[in-house]
Amino acid sequence: MATGISRCMYCGDSLGTAIDHFEPLHETPLRAFDWLNHLLACTHCNSHGKRDRFPRDGVGAPLLIDPSSTDPADHLWLSLTGGEYEPLTPQGRATIDVFGLNRADLAKGRRAAFTRTKCMLRELGRCAGEEADEIRSSLSAQPFADVLAAMITASALPNPPRFLGGPEVVAVLRTYGIRP
Ligand SMILES: [Zn+2]
Repeated sequence: MATGISRCMYCGDSLGTAIDHFEPLHETPLRAFDWLNHLLACTHCNSHGKRDRFPRDGVGAPLLIDPSSTDPADHLWLSLTGGEYEPLTPQGRATIDVFGLNRADLAKGRRAAFTRTKCMLRELGRCAGEEADEIRSSLSAQPFADVLAAMITASALPNPPRFLGGPEVVAVLRTYGIRP
């Protein structure tokens, strides 16, 4: 959810052009100027998805995931081949629902990002130095950085799934972030 450069912290796709008050002002007006209550969001997630919705559980705890304080991976599982999220918890389910995280354009974008990321990782495994730095920096700036995060998680499994792109890509993923 918190991805790329200046991307929306919810969908990770569009540029974050709006500031979302995580806890809506009509519920907690005292947090109007609380820095930690301001998240970068896109117009779609902020104005069409969330609006003033802020579901809570039976004891009043927020059901939406705050990507600045919680690892979304604890609540959401991304299907790399399908491009859609599966909820792991009630918070995951509410977040998918409110922000429309499985809308068709996002699923399509994640599938494309998966294909693109595999190609870039394969290339990264074959080069070094400045060229490798360029690929790393491009990977960290692209939309849908959640795809790379899900690939790194999957590569750590004892038997990584074949669709990750084979041993060559898995080897790069397992050392991702470690400079050669
Ligand atoms: Zn968004």
